[in-house]
Order: sequence, then structure tokens, then C-alpha cells
Amino acid sequence: MLNLVIFGAPGSGKGTQSELLIDEYGLFHISTGEVLRDHIARGTELGKIADSYISKGQLIPDELMIDILSHLLDSDERTRKGVIFDGFPRTINQAKALKKMLAERGSKVHAVVGLEVEDSELIDRLLKRGKDSGRADDNLDTITQRLHVYHSQTQPLQEYYRNEGKYHSINGTGSIDEIFSTIKQALEWAKVTPKEPIKQ
Ligand code: AMP
Repeated sequence: MLNLVIFGAPGSGKGTQSELLIDEYGLFHISTGEVLRDHIARGTELGKIADSYISKGQLIPDELMIDILSHLLDSDERTRKGVIFDGFPRTINQAKALKKMLAERGSKVHAVVGLEVEDSELIDRLLKRGKDSGRADDNLDTITQRLHVYHSQTQPLQEYYRNEGKYHSINGTGSIDEIFSTIKQALEWAKVTPKEPIKQ
């Protein structure tokens, strides 16, 4: 089994590259942002709480987010075959909690793929995406806040995972296919890809 974390600022291409990695390695996709947006769309209690943070570009508190993730890992057997974590962890506390949760399930994070893109390019991409996404947080004020949160709370995870020898820095600019082949190469060099693609 292979557990990957796809890491990067908002707009760095995590969702797009996750889709390709899922097809290539048969991973189960957990996007915490999508899970929260689904709750908001269904008007659940959790959705109401999540909305109050997401619309301001702030992070959902660690304790709540870790609880959500733990339930997700337990709710679907396919997570045991390998997961791509997209949008989690976003803080050092979440990374430590993920390590513990996976260890309790006899597993670990095998590699972290970090998509690196300049802020000016991220802002351009997110404003373009905002025209069609309908996402309440793809507007300039919230984007600016999300980038600030990324640099202050999430970026320190690069160092955390570098120290664990798991961080793979990927240039996140260029065509989707070019970026994907750089990711595959990095994973192959690090010998973290499964020998046979895992079929779901
Ligand atoms: P994303 O779709 O990953 O860009 O996430 C959208 C928003 O959901 C973020 O700006 C946060 O408000 C919230 N969110 C998603 N994942 C997390 C997380 N791991 N921790 C805290 N908040 C999160």
C-alpha cells in the first residue's frame, strides 16, 4: 500500500495532480476541502461550522479536522489499500496526528509531493478558477487570506517532512502532463511507487 500526501498552496494544482495519481496508482482520494464543501452543500451542522471558517479563508480548528479525518479513514475499507491525502495535513499538529492515526492502522505516510508555485501565479489561477468554480473562497480578499494562512501555518510542514526524508519538491508550473511526469520520476527515484498499480 502507498500513502501519499499532495502538498502545496491553494491553486498549486493538488486536485488536478491527485486525479492523475489516483488513476496511476489506484489510490483512494481524500480531499478535506471537498468533504467540507459537501457538508456545506447538504447544510449539515458540520457544514455550518466549516462555512464560517472557509468563507473567511481560515483553517478549521485542528481538533475538529483531525476527528473528521479519523472518521474518514475508518468509514471506508478502500483507505487500507492506500490513500492520497489532498489538503491534509495543513498544520504541524495535523501532521503529527496523521502519523499517529496511520501508525495505529499499521501504516505511514510514504511520501509527500510538494507542488511549488509563485504567489503571483497562484493568485492568477485562483481568480480564473473563481469565474467558474462557484467557490465562495475564490475571490481576491479570501485568496489573499488563504495565502497568508498557507505561508504562516502550512508551509512549515515542508521542513517537517524534509526532516523525515519524505518531502519531494516539484516545480508546479508548466503543463499538467509535464508536472505529472516530474512527480512520477521523483516517486520512482525514491522507490516509493508500488511495483504493480493497485486496482480498486
Ligand atoms: P481546499 O479545497 O483544500 O483549498 O480547502 C478549502 C478550505 O477548507 C480551506 O481554505 C480551509 O478553510 C478548509 N480546509 C480544508 N482542509 C483543511 C485542513 N486540513 N485543515 C483546516 N482547514 C481545512
